[in-house]
Amino acid sequence: MLGLLGGGQLGRMFAMAAHQMGYQVTVLDSDPDSPAGRIADQFICAEYTDRAALQRLGKQCAAITTEFENIPAAALAQLSEFCIVSPDAKSVSIAQNRISEKQFLQANNFSIASFAIIEQAGQFRNFTNSIAGLFPGILKVSQFGYDGKGQKHVNNEAELSTAFVEMKSVPCVLEKKVPLKCEVSVVLTRGGDGKMVCFPVVENQHMNGVLDISIVPARVSAETAKQALEIAGNVADTLNYRGVLCVEFFLLEDGQLVINEIAPRPHNSGHFSIDACITSQFEQQVRALCELPLGNTALHKPSVMVNLLGDLWQNGEPDWLLVLQQPSTKLHLYGKRAARPGRKMGHFTVLGETADQALTKALHIKRVIE
Ligand code: ADP
Ligand code: MG
Repeated sequence: MLGLLGGGQLGRMFAMAAHQMGYQVTVLDSDPDSPAGRIADQFICAEYTDRAALQRLGKQCAAITTEFENIPAAALAQLSEFCIVSPDAKSVSIAQNRISEKQFLQANNFSIASFAIIEQAGQFRNFTNSIAGLFPGILKVSQFGYDGKGQKHVNNEAELSTAFVEMKSVPCVLEKKVPLKCEVSVVLTRGGDGKMVCFPVVENQHMNGVLDISIVPARVSAETAKQALEIAGNVADTLNYRGVLCVEFFLLEDGQLVINEIAPRPHNSGHFSIDACITSQFEQQVRALCELPLGNTALHKPSVMVNLLGDLWQNGEPDWLLVLQQPSTKLHLYGKRAARPGRKMGHFTVLGETADQALTKALHIKRVIE
């Protein structure tokens, strides 16, 4: 019995991979109708702060993982008294907070965009130069932001003050906007023995702060791809990380790679691996959790993943035949009941002879279902 904190789509795909390998899964989530909870062998409907519920989970599982980075560190620490918990409380607490994440990256000499920490109006930590050097910038809440939520673009101190109040004056970081050539990510798995296996570098296109399309392999130079894999591996080693980790990068116009953020779990940009790789990111999560050898992540073929957001449901359920009738295309729907705008409802993956060919096919399908 494997335990899973969080009942979202990442958890659902983890449970599917676990089932494929003969494991059972207990999901803990506060939503009684979550995508992973609905396919779990056992479901505990509780908050992550419910110590009695955590104890029940801990007692019945051989190992526990998470699909959600905002799990309180205390919950992971409590569970680790019962069984293996990966990733561990320390890695999750660093990654779940932009301030601690940036401080960790900076302290270990990883390249990141210039930033300041703002915990009180008008007071800037970690930044000695004039704050004017960070404009135009993006104000980001330090916790619970996702899919571009909890972010505001600001061009001067007046806009910054207004935006900070609009964020309810919670701790934030102000990050300088960097000139992007493109965005790439590396999803990797690190076992408890320190052995590491990476997926190929992914090129990501965002729309309104939400991942739209992932292209694999990324159309970047071999040198850039090698560097991204190396940096991501160093991040995982520095954290002494166990499990699946995603490192998101900005590739700047001058060719420099800077780390945007890290996610202590499988990542949306790794969904291509279900259909395009010998081993998916979710199977790797199971393998790392159960101390099994990590799988081969070689690509069957170049591929493109396209996210399906709730906006597509505006005029009712899209006509999935338009996706399913395409050769070398796979459809994934997460079983969410309500299709709200911006909500991740599913994705499809297209395989091609080259990344560009897969992209052309994917964009065609995207156009016809919209
Ligand atoms: P989230 O946690 O919502 O994914 P990110 O910090 O990754 O938040 O920001 C979402 C997207 O916004 C990024 O993938 C990128 O496209 C854009 N973005 C964020 N920060 C910057 C920046 N400093 N410069 C340029 N673009 C940025
Ligand atoms: Mg991001």
